[in-house]
Amino acid sequence: MNIEQSKQNITLIGAGIMSATLGVLLKKLLPNAQITIFERLDKAGQESSDAWNNAGTGHSAFCELNYTPEKEDGSIDLSKALRISEQFEVSKQFWAYLKERGNLSQRKAFINDIDHMSLVWGADNVAFLKKRYEAMVQYPIFEDMLYSEDPQQITEWTPLMMEGRTGEDPIAATRMAIGTDVNFGDITRGMIRYLEDLKGVEVNMAHEVQDIEKQPDGRWLVGTENLTTGKSKETLADFVFIGAGGGALKLLDKSGIPEANGFGGFPVSGQWLRCNNKDVIQRHEAKVYGKAAVGSPPMSVPHLDTRMINGERCLLFGPYAGFSTKFLKNGSYLDLFLSIEMHNVWPMLSAGAKNLDLTKYLVEQVLQDKEDKFSFLQQYYPEAKIEDWEQETAGQRVQIIKKDGKKGGKLQFGTEVVSSSDGTLSALLGASPGASTSVSIMLEVLAKCFPDNLASPEWTKKIKTMIPSYGQSLITNKELLDKTRARTTDILKLEEDLTNPE
Ligand SMILES: Cc1cc2nc3c(=O)[nH]c(=O)nc-3n(C[C@H](O)[C@H](O)[C@H](O)COP(=O)(O)OP(=O)(O)OC[C@H]3O[C@@H](n4cnc5c(N)ncnc54)[C@H](O)[C@@H]3O)c2cc1C
Repeated sequence: MNIEQSKQNITLIGAGIMSATLGVLLKKLLPNAQITIFERLDKAGQESSDAWNNAGTGHSAFCELNYTPEKEDGSIDLSKALRISEQFEVSKQFWAYLKERGNLSQRKAFINDIDHMSLVWGADNVAFLKKRYEAMVQYPIFEDMLYSEDPQQITEWTPLMMEGRTGEDPIAATRMAIGTDVNFGDITRGMIRYLEDLKGVEVNMAHEVQDIEKQPDGRWLVGTENLTTGKSKETLADFVFIGAGGGALKLLDKSGIPEANGFGGFPVSGQWLRCNNKDVIQRHEAKVYGKAAVGSPPMSVPHLDTRMINGERCLLFGPYAGFSTKFLKNGSYLDLFLSIEMHNVWPMLSAGAKNLDLTKYLVEQVLQDKEDKFSFLQQYYPEAKIEDWEQETAGQRVQIIKKDGKKGGKLQFGTEVVSSSDGTLSALLGASPGASTSVSIMLEVLAKCFPDNLASPEWTKKIKTMIPSYGQSLITNKELLDKTRARTTDILKLEEDLTNPE
């Protein structure tokens, strides 16, 4: 193979929202950088970041009950909710900055204002929601949340979900009017298009990265195959980011960095029910999250969601979890088996043994046919008609399995940035809360791999141009939060009527 000794020194693997975000941040911070992007598919943002492959929820912790667990003493743990909510405000600021400058040239809005609600029934769940609400409204970031146990009020908020209920069970809901639905695929493609036009950026679609090898001079040799011509190519890079989604684990392993030891992956696939009846779609305007079943993984919280995809209003229900041995939706059934190595076999076996509830849940989900799925939908929308709904396959998630000193291995549901100690390579593992917090996650990559630059006044100033609240708390500083939200709402046009999209 020929070694292409070019001037490029930053390689980004994958053209999903993570690599795209990091590429834009790096190009803004290091205008002379040579950035090469390799993507195995022929278009950007076609895996988890694509609109129908995820739920498009701008995760702000307004409605996701799994972000606010109840502690043993009965109080509500808000730490995760506060962190995620603040991180979403950071993402909105970055997208507003790009939009304001015309760097994201979408014809249709990529983010829309859609109420976020939680809806629960049964005395225990109602008590939990009330307690959660009372704890949350103490913080400015959640203070606009509304709570009701009044069926009439809840019917006004979400009529579709209340029709046909007998009223026997106590019911409660919270509502946040500033929730959002986001087309992460569009944002990704917008950022990649912007990068493509910049000097010093090379975007290679249909190129699969197959190997990453550290060179004696400290650089990385990245081996790729052009999937159209079958030709191999090698590129040298000073810094590599593995933003390959479900494909990241394999490449991290190939890099041979000691920090990768003990990591494994467990794939969870997903499905939606998608409504095809325009009248039904028009009668629901919210993202309404319920409570996950016992034993289910946190990302399987059921929700009935208004989506805005390319200007079209849609309605989905799900996700239904499933099991597939693929690590990418467009991957291979051998992915799981090929990911098992000496260093992770014990953590994987041990995590499997400790998560029998999850295994049982996934088996039950896989065995469900359309009728079973439909009867679950009827718990949320009692008067739903089966002929109005069709099945849609969602993206693939690879949950992290991590070596755990004492206990062998543990299954983790969040994301984790794994970096080499010299800061020349970084990878993102895991999936949730994902795209909504992509900007903060990529700032974490910069903190781990470009710590001196990040601490410099020059970078601080540039980052503050992109993210005005950078370095300050949106959780404790109400004045800054209000100013930030007002600005992003205005630039991202979040107050526009959904029935009249741009
Ligand atoms: C069912 C589901 C629902 C979700 N809902 C939400 C939600 O509501 N809100 C939210 O914020 N997040 C949600 N997420 C999470 C979110 O979709 C992901 O966190 C995010 O899209 C991950 O972006 P990424 O760039 O890391 O990965 P991806 O978008 O998967 O991109 C990775 C890219 O790398 C490419 N690639 C892989 N291997 C190679 C290789 N060897 N060489 C070259 N290219 C390669 C892939 O083709 C792909 O294009 C959801 C995810 C799923 C699956």
